[in-house]
Amino acid sequence: MLKYCSIGSGSSGNCHYIGYENTNILIDAGLTGKKIEDGLKNININNLNGIFITHEHSDHIKGVGILSRKYNIPIFANLKTWQAMKDKIGEIDKKNIMVFENDKTYSLGKIIIRPFSIPHDSSDAVGYSFYANNEKISIATDIGMITDNIRKNLYKSKLVIIESNYDKNMLMMGPYPYNLKKRVSSELGHLSNEDCGNFCVELVNNGTKNILLAHLSKENNFPELAYETTKSILFENDIKIDKNINLEVLPREQISEIYKL
Ligand SMILES: [Zn+2]
Ligand SMILES: [Zn+2]
Repeated sequence: MLKYCSIGSGSSGNCHYIGYENTNILIDAGLTGKKIEDGLKNININNLNGIFITHEHSDHIKGVGILSRKYNIPIFANLKTWQAMKDKIGEIDKKNIMVFENDKTYSLGKIIIRPFSIPHDSSDAVGYSFYANNEKISIATDIGMITDNIRKNLYKSKLVIIESNYDKNMLMMGPYPYNLKKRVSSELGHLSNEDCGNFCVELVNNGTKNILLAHLSKENNFPELAYETTKSILFENDIKIDKNINLEVLPREQISEIYKL
């Protein structure tokens, strides 16, 4: 079974677990090493084959150096992301520095992995698709807008973890300074609840059965609002949340349940 679990999701720290048979990987390690260790213990995972990095923002890399040094874990990222994060994560053993190219397909153990380019204000951000057991899971957070490359990679994923970062009104009326509001809502910023909801219609129409809303802003969103926004956009498009379509919001600080495909 292909397994997914969120160890934390939000602007204060992101870390996802994916496992298949004896291959266990993390996508980002943006919480403290201790929190990630506790999360993994919680789901009985005691070895990791690699950590895949989406981009160098601190809410995605905070614990990566510590974990790699302590447990001798390889870190996978593209070259520009390596260049941008190497001074932030401390010394990494040469053999654990793994460089990939975007939009190519790799494998680690029994999991096929494809990093794909996404628009975000970091050096070279990616989302990921994972394949095993004839199933596909995709993760895309920190995305300024939905591109055709994102569509191509996310369609036909049975489980999708997608960003639903902010509510447009809350962002506009909220405490952020003007420039930050502009950055968040730009095409290199984050995805709003509404844009997420519209894209979820496309996802469901292209085979997705399970959508987990991720990376919610603490200041400009809240779980019920993210959930209701996407749910009502789905409903307007004749898609009802039922036993065939599951929609959930990932918890910000706690570990999620384990999803099995
Ligand atoms: Zn982030
Ligand atoms: Zn980011």
